[in-house]
Amino acid sequence: MGGVAATSDGVFEDRCARARIEMVAQGVDVLLLSVGADLPYLTGYEAMPLERLTMLVLPREGGATLVIPRLEAPRVVDRPGVFTLLPWGETEDPVRLVADLAAGASVAAVGDHTWARFVIDLLGLMPATAFRRGALITSPLRSRKDEAEVAALRTAGAAADRVALQLQKGEIPLVGRTEASVSQDISRRLLAEGHDQVNFANVGAGEDAASPHHHASERVIRDGEVVLCDFGGTYDGYCSDITRCVSLGTPPAEVAEAYAVLHEAQQAAVRAAKVGTTCEAVDAVARSIIAEAGYGELFIHRTGHGIGVEAHEDPYIVAGNPTALAPGHAFSIEPGIYLPGRWGMRLEDIVVATEEGPDPMNHADHALVVVDA
Ligand code: ZN
Ligand code: ZN
Ligand code: ZN
Repeated sequence: MGGVAATSDGVFEDRCARARIEMVAQGVDVLLLSVGADLPYLTGYEAMPLERLTMLVLPREGGATLVIPRLEAPRVVDRPGVFTLLPWGETEDPVRLVADLAAGASVAAVGDHTWARFVIDLLGLMPATAFRRGALITSPLRSRKDEAEVAALRTAGAAADRVALQLQKGEIPLVGRTEASVSQDISRRLLAEGHDQVNFANVGAGEDAASPHHHASERVIRDGEVVLCDFGGTYDGYCSDITRCVSLGTPPAEVAEAYAVLHEAQQAAVRAAKVGTTCEAVDAVARSIIAEAGYGELFIHRTGHGIGVEAHEDPYIVAGNPTALAPGHAFSIEPGIYLPGRWGMRLEDIVVATEEGPDPMNHADHALVVVDA
């Protein structure tokens, strides 16, 4: 998660106003947000993941209140147009304060990442209230990025691209190093290129790449192998996420043939990601090309995920998601082909849907670049 891009009070006032419009549309009387990315998105304040409760109480009408442990209050940037601060002392019951502020609500939406202990106490204190997931209100807002957010994603994507380029130019030593050591190297480079934090740097060589979420291990990378690198971080509050594979030497024919299919499938799915096309239709474009080439059983995950202040968020590019892409939707397109025990490959870009067509945030070479590193 990390920091929040420099944003003025007006941005947060506007986001809270849009949250209220969504609440009216969904019949939600009060929105309750604690830890997670929704609270900083709406207020600029990120709650500490503490046993002491921090919770924004945002009613459909009337002012919002940020209930916060008194000792945390000095960290809050006052935004009078957005919320009033209600610090609570060590002997007070903060859940009771929230229940009092939300009294009379027929329907409450609670942030998806709120700790169960607080939700369970709230359920006890608000027996007449029906509870919904906070994402019902926040996801439609967060998934559609405004101009400044797209600019932030582009900056983050360009920084990740520069690290991918270093990989493809052979500037990151690979042969004889462990995956873990290469992962640390990539992490350092992500920071050097401007990221505030590294979210992941997965490195899988040879058969390790056949496990899509393989974590870099002590396995030593050998000459002749394909190395899959999937990395990203947070840059001024917004995430990057890119996957490139490189080949240490000329790849075997079966690898080159599969990669040609993967490349075609990924680029076709990027081109298909137009405003009005559904998420499941974009997934089907990549999947059908891979299946027609005979690798259907080896593409074992969805085509992509939304991205923004979180590395994975709505909309998900997956079969069964009928959401039509809208301007500002930002997501990954990352099909993969994995042959267990042998090799794996994935190709990933972040793309933003716009009225002018799909706008990729990544431009690093899409080929299986042969490196001598
Ligand atoms: Zn993932
Ligand atoms: Zn990735
Ligand atoms: Zn991804």
